[in-house]
Amino acid sequence: MRLGTDYHIHTFYQRCGNGTLTLENIIRRAEGLRMTSLAITDHINNFEHIANHKLIKQDIEAVETDLEVFFGCELNFMSCDGPWPYNEQIHQEYGFEVVIGGIHSTYTDSQDIVEVRDIQQRHHMRTLNDPLLNVLVHPYWFGKAEWEARPAEWWVELLETMPDDYVREMAQASAANDCAIEVNACAIFYNKNYPAEFQSAYIRYLGRLRDEGALFTVGSDAHDIKQIGTSEYCEGILDGLGVPAEQIWRPRASA
Ligand SMILES: [Zn+2]
Ligand SMILES: [Zn+2]
Repeated sequence: MRLGTDYHIHTFYQRCGNGTLTLENIIRRAEGLRMTSLAITDHINNFEHIANHKLIKQDIEAVETDLEVFFGCELNFMSCDGPWPYNEQIHQEYGFEVVIGGIHSTYTDSQDIVEVRDIQQRHHMRTLNDPLLNVLVHPYWFGKAEWEARPAEWWVELLETMPDDYVREMAQASAANDCAIEVNACAIFYNKNYPAEFQSAYIRYLGRLRDEGALFTVGSDAHDIKQIGTSEYCEGILDGLGVPAEQIWRPRASA
């Protein structure tokens, strides 16, 4: 089932996405790929990142298209167990429609799987239980330096030994709070650092979340215009896993 959705797209505004990611370019490419529904979700890693979102919102409102385009953002924790640079007041003032976010670090040099996984799980649960958030982004994505500090087999083992109660806890919070777990194209499945064994283990992990009733969504995490469209691969993964329509999350437009 091809939905043509992508709920994780960056822009040139925050300098993380490159200069190709103007609203006009994103929309024209998505139209060319016959996509149907997008969310523009640039970074909020600190309070200084917030002001540019007014410009992004203006661009969304100005661009002419029949596509469904939601105004969103991607949150990151400011430190281990620290707060988001975000709150109810910012949420209301800016009118964000799709708020995605999650942990972006191991926050430790440890090679102890239990310790590393516990930090991730704790932050995943905070994300899934936060009423301001709609999507938990790229669980078990790690930056290049952190990935390379441990052998590839270690990362595969981390996923393959995931305890049942960790999977169940996340899936139940996702369903209860209408907060989706993201299947991310560029961070996970187009990530050149990640070997096929890790990606296979990742798909098995998604299958366990499916069995426990988690909701899912897809995102390209595009940082370059050519990456728009990669979310279709993630829709294919959900299709291959036989995830039923009731477990596919879709954004709701604000009134
Ligand atoms: Zn991210
Ligand atoms: Zn992102």
